[in-house]
Amino acid sequence: MKLYYDFHIHSCLSPCGDADNTPNNIVNMALVKGLHVIALSDHNTGKNCPAAIAVGKKNGLIVLPAMELTTSEDIHILCLFEKYEDLQKLESHIQRTRLRIRNKPEIFGKQLILNENDEVIGEEEDLLIVSSGVSVEEVAALVSGFGGIAVPAHIDKQANGLVGVLGAFDYNLGFQLIECTAGSGVKLPQITDSDAHYLWDIAEAEHFIEAETCSAHGVFEALKKMCRQGE
Ligand SMILES: [Zn+2]
Ligand SMILES: [Zn+2]
Repeated sequence: MKLYYDFHIHSCLSPCGDADNTPNNIVNMALVKGLHVIALSDHNTGKNCPAAIAVGKKNGLIVLPAMELTTSEDIHILCLFEKYEDLQKLESHIQRTRLRIRNKPEIFGKQLILNENDEVIGEEEDLLIVSSGVSVEEVAALVSGFGGIAVPAHIDKQANGLVGVLGAFDYNLGFQLIECTAGSGVKLPQITDSDAHYLWDIAEAEHFIEAETCSAHGVFEALKKMCRQGE
């Protein structure tokens, strides 16, 4: 079945994510747009994923746990998971290596952790957009070791895109899937996402994935199948 997706959406926990990007608003906007599956991918954290997954379950939208990891070279890597427990393992790993710089809410905005009723249950005090300490050479194997898929994010963007930072795509880094909006010239299967920091930027039902079942498992299996095509 065709499942329309947007695997790259930021919540209010990302310093650059709009305060209106709460779990409920994101899920409802995705449903209005006609999407079947989204991934919540905040910078270097997955702490708003449990709320988004719960809201998705209640409303009939698949929400994959994810994060947009910043490598030590300042390259953004979308890390997609089927299970939140696996994403948590990646998060505990990078918490030990992440640069510790205090967030300045007056500049970057508050980094809020919400529950499934959009109530504030915490605030991340370290600035999340900084380097995770994980290098681009090790990230694909690291994420896959935790059960996830590492996808170089927005590789056609100059800022924080793999090609923009490294100057060319290196096929030896172990990536099997890329995220791109237009043709990148990279010979790997690609997904196209919105990288929405505002609700209105969430993708229209335009890009779909062929999945066997309408579930997080079905979507993740479909992504893994795409990865195998990239081998
Ligand atoms: Zn990014
Ligand atoms: Zn992003």
